[in-house]
Formats: sequence, C-alpha cells, structure tokens
Amino acid sequence: MIEVISGPCSAESEEQVFATASALRVAILPKNMCISAFRAGLWKPRTRPGNFEGVGEKGLPWLKRVQDELGLKVMVEVGSPLHVEAALKAGVDMLWIGARTTADPFAMQALADALGGTDIPVFVKNPTNPDAELWIGAVERLASAGVKDVRAIHRGFSFYEKSKYRNYPKWQVPLDVQQRLPGLKMYCDPSHIAGNGAYIQELSQRALDLGFAGLFIESHISPQSALSDASQQVTPQELSGILSRLVVKDASDSVSEEISRLRETINMIDDNLLDLLAQRMDVSRKIGQCKKAGNMTVYQQRRWEEVVKRISEGAVSRGLDGKAVQELYKIIHQASIECQ
Ligand code: PEP
Ligand code: MN
Repeated sequence: MIEVISGPCSAESEEQVFATASALRVAILPKNMCISAFRAGLWKPRTRPGNFEGVGEKGLPWLKRVQDELGLKVMVEVGSPLHVEAALKAGVDMLWIGARTTADPFAMQALADALGGTDIPVFVKNPTNPDAELWIGAVERLASAGVKDVRAIHRGFSFYEKSKYRNYPKWQVPLDVQQRLPGLKMYCDPSHIAGNGAYIQELSQRALDLGFAGLFIESHISPQSALSDASQQVTPQELSGILSRLVVKDASDSVSEEISRLRETINMIDDNLLDLLAQRMDVSRKIGQCKKAGNMTVYQQRRWEEVVKRISEGAVSRGLDGKAVQELYKIIHQASIECQ
C-alpha cells in the first residue's frame, strides 16, 4: 500500500482546512493507495521575513475537527520544543521536521530532547543541502532520544542556478541514506522538489519506481489563492488524477529496483562528467584567448601528442580501453579547437 500524505502547505483558515480535508476524504484513490494523514503547516519556516509565517497554535483546533469529524490523522511541522509541546498536547498524530531545521544540529538536538519517548511517527525532511551525513545525524538524534518511529522525507536540495525544478532531486542521496539506515521508511515530497504542480506526476512516478514508501503532496482547495507555495499545490481532485495515473511496480521486483538504483548512479556520474566537460571547455576558451593574444596557432601538434600520451596512459592505468578513450578525446579536442 502506497501511503499518501496530503494537505495544504499552510493552514490558513478553518474553512480552507476543513474544505481541503473533506475533499481529500472523498477523493477517489487507486486501490493500492491511501491517504494516511492530512498535512498542514502551522508554523512556517520562511527563508525571508515578511512572508506568511503561519497561523500558529490557533490552527490546532481546526486540525482536531479534521480528526473528529473526518476521521483523518493529522500532521504538522515542528521547528522548536514549543511547537512540539503544543502539538503533542493537542493530540496531533504525526510530525514532520522541515529541511531548514534538519540542517541545524542544535535545533535537531533540542527537538530530539523535547520528543524523547514519543511513539507518534516523526518524519525528517532532508536538509536543504545534499548532505547525507547531516540527514542521518538528525535521524540518529531522534532515535537516540527515544523517538520510536522515525521516518524520512526526500524533498530535494536547493541550488543557485535556475532549473526546471525548484529543488534538485539528486535521488542518489535518499538512496544512500536508505542503504545506510536499512529499515528507515523513505517518503518523497514531489511538491517541494517540483515547485510547480505540473511536475508532480513525473517526480511521483520516479519515487515509486525507486521503491519509496509513500508520497507527501501539497493540496489546497483553491491553490491559486494559497498564502504559501501557491504554484506547487494541486486541488484534491487533481491529486486524485495524478495518483490514478501512477504505475505501482511489484515490490518483489527487486531486479528492476536494483537496475533503477544503478541507473540513478549512472545519471549522477554523467552529470559530473558533463560538469567536467563544461569546465574543460571554459579553460580551453581561456587558452584560446591567450593564443590569440600571443599570435599562436590554435592547433599545436606537440601539445596534442602530449595529451594523447597522457590520456592513453591514464586510461590504461584505470583499466580502460586506451584506444576507445583516444577516440573520445579526438572528439573533445576537435570541439576545443572549434571553440578556440
Ligand atoms: C513544507 O512542507 O511546507 C515545508 C516548509 O517544507 P520544506 O521544509 O521541505 O521546505
Ligand atoms: Mn510548502
């Protein structure tokens, strides 16, 4: 059974919370999926001040209504011992720890101390930077403090450049964490990776293909009027459509799961190779400028012979086929000459 946790980025009003939860309660789901909890942020960690920072404790009775009248479990984010105290007192069923908090060991320790001994599930989002150690450290702090049910959520990693997604998925990181902490249930939050409702489908499918235990997807009764993360929220009806189009693989299909993991590693290596090629081309361009300033020819036979000798020896010493690598270098060298 694939667990889906859904609900708005932020609880904004009792009406918005109740209308969203009611629509999720009746949403049609595939047989192998269930809404395991209703999420809503009460205390919102905002990167910059001045944005909507959540309604705080005022929203706890709204969630109680969702529990009592709709029979849904409810889940909020905690970032400090005060949040923990308020949430536990109000009988919240599950908690999550946000990406910015996971990145701070002091905050994590304070949360672990406040949560010690609880048996409600506590989900730890990855830190904003792709640091498996920091993520594992946060999980360990909770477990050592006596939190009995610790789980993890992959929500992608922030980076400076513009790209299709709001956060870079770097799937290898959650896969590594899972390998190092076998038994840790790993969920995926495609909403915060995507930053745009249009990409939730493809990211959710990827997560299922990689064997994630469940999905954490933001939904809002009226996404365009949401006070936070408006562009990535979908209506409960859209969520139902997304889930119905997902293909859930047979969990016993461990061969293809292994292939998916290995392919993800190949993709990471290819990304690194492309970064290196781009760096090489930048340096080559600079050399081109020097050659121009020094009135030198672009192609220099002696230097090329030196490169061929170096890379052939380097290839062989790494167990690679020297001839094949030489062929590859002919193409790289040609591209360099053309750019110079
Ligand atoms: C959230 O889930 O709304 C949230 C703030 O997430 P993150 O910590 O992943 O940014
Ligand atoms: Mn959000």
